[in-house]
Amino acid sequence: MAKIPINIATGSLQKDEMIVGIDLGTTNSLVAIIHPDTGKPIVLKEHNSSALVPSIIHFDKNANIVVGDEAKQFLISEPQQTIFSAKRLMGKSYNDIKQRADFFSYKILDDDTESLVKIQVGNKFYSPVDLSSFILKELKARAEHILKTPVNKAVITVPAYFNDAQRQATRDAGKLAGLDVLRIINEPTAASLSYGMGINKEENKIIAVYDLGGGTFDVSILRIAGGIFDVLSTNGNTYLGGDDMDKTIVDFWMKKNGMTGEEWLLHDSLKQQLRLKAEEAKKHLSVLDSYTGVLHNAELNITKNEFNQLIAPLIESTLQNCKSALKDAELTVNDIEAVVMVGGSTRVPLVKEKVGAFFDQKVNDTVNPDEVVALGAAIQADILAGNNRDLLLLDITPLSLGLETSGGLMDVLIPRNTKIPAKAARQYTTQVDGQPGMRISVYQGERDMVKDNRKLAEFILSGIPGMPAGMAKVEIAFLINADGILTVAAKELRSGVQQSIEVKPQYGLTDTDVEKMLQDSLLHAKDDIATRALVEAKTEAEQLLKTTEGFLQKNASALSQQELLQTAAAMQALQLAITMDDKNLVQSKTEELNNISRPYAERIMDDAIATAMKGKKL
Ligand code: ADP
Ligand code: MG
Repeated sequence: MAKIPINIATGSLQKDEMIVGIDLGTTNSLVAIIHPDTGKPIVLKEHNSSALVPSIIHFDKNANIVVGDEAKQFLISEPQQTIFSAKRLMGKSYNDIKQRADFFSYKILDDDTESLVKIQVGNKFYSPVDLSSFILKELKARAEHILKTPVNKAVITVPAYFNDAQRQATRDAGKLAGLDVLRIINEPTAASLSYGMGINKEENKIIAVYDLGGGTFDVSILRIAGGIFDVLSTNGNTYLGGDDMDKTIVDFWMKKNGMTGEEWLLHDSLKQQLRLKAEEAKKHLSVLDSYTGVLHNAELNITKNEFNQLIAPLIESTLQNCKSALKDAELTVNDIEAVVMVGGSTRVPLVKEKVGAFFDQKVNDTVNPDEVVALGAAIQADILAGNNRDLLLLDITPLSLGLETSGGLMDVLIPRNTKIPAKAARQYTTQVDGQPGMRISVYQGERDMVKDNRKLAEFILSGIPGMPAGMAKVEIAFLINADGILTVAAKELRSGVQQSIEVKPQYGLTDTDVEKMLQDSLLHAKDDIATRALVEAKTEAEQLLKTTEGFLQKNASALSQQELLQTAAAMQALQLAITMDDKNLVQSKTEELNNISRPYAERIMDDAIATAMKGKKL
């Protein structure tokens, strides 16, 4: 551990790079660092306040933003302007979440497509990346205030089950908040690091990490060997957590006191107060045997026994998930050498007890469960900042590697700081009917538009047999071997046509060049992400115009005069918005055209199905 000198005149830390660890949670987020004097990880907090920042964003009428406890108080009174659980939306399309659309009390655009979700507040549109960046910005500002030094570098944690798109979205959010995200690490890995697991390279063991948070539950089985964490399996329930415990208490009180829904639940502020009381009671029962409270003359009592009965089924269902995780990893309880408890809800004694009984051992619960992930992220940050710098440069990709996609966007396949050897693959498709070839342009760098990055190679995958746009399945794979040589291979999966190329990404690139490219990406992060959002909105809009046109050509006769006129007007408005380069306008006009065409598209589809069915009748 390098010591960090402090400037006595200003009180600021004299170290050019303070790398923080960030737990960007669904319910709460927080920042941790390694204390410069003690070398121990600590969470950052102001005096007399909690380190936990509720992951909630409130927008007022003028789109001014507050984050954290201040935002939480608007949850029930201004649900449309108060965004919670943004993490659930990261990297998701509307189709991914539509079954759960009623969970969110704010407006998620129902565009019924595979493109990424957007949230509407007032007349502004936000992506989950924007929302997460607001939380990260707040965390950054708090950290800078406490440390009295700029904070520009971070390690951010994500759930082990996050896919590529969700991890990339988290990186983008960091970048947008002005943070250089050195690495994204798994939450269970971070938690294990806090318990000192995996730090000694000789260590070799299999552990379970049980994480019960505010609204989500997940369990991961990890193998730790030679300082590497391998996720053997994950399981869980993305809609189960401490909030559900609070709800059972609310229901219990309502029943016990004969409180009717009308009296209590129609009133927003009462509803909010009752929920907060329930949470208070729950926390109280984590240490004491009973709770007594009052709210507007209603007595709110509950004993630990009563509470335990209420939540027993909830805990039981998490144990079922643990069972499945073991099964998927082809292991039994006897193979698990340690169990790590994570998440505020594991403070509930019955949870610890049942989980311990299930795994037949004493669980690790000595580190504060709602801080354990952030603390581990700080340890990882310290390893990255630390003395192994040579090793670090040898072992990882210093810049991201990716491809050019529609509109000149950079699509990253291998993010920077990925350990090598590494591989990644993604599928793409053709944009035009009968397209015979696909140009594959490989770039290196952190900017969002390929024109700002470094071009490494280009080739054309030719000989794709004629098929309609969107039918071809071209898989592009990146493989970096231990010597840092990148092989890019493209294969059309339906026909088997393939081609590949080899490049040396680091060729002719000095450390100073790399540093400059990184700095540029931070400098331009805001503009870059705005440009990307605009290009994506325009691409989506153009796609919609194209499909609508195609649809009209085939089905115009089935549409009423009014539908035709409305559609033409909406198409024209969207066309205009595209030329004006205004993202919000493009999105709202896309939404309008969608709203107009959806009813008749569905009607015609239903008719077509009905006709097809009729034909089949005997
Ligand atoms: P997330 O990882 O989803 O952001 P956290 O790990 O911060 O969530 O967990 C938040 C949950 O932990 C909330 O439901 C909160 O009520 C619960 N919690 C916090 N402290 C306690 C406690 N002392 N006893 C029981 N539950 C608690
Ligand atoms: Mg968490």
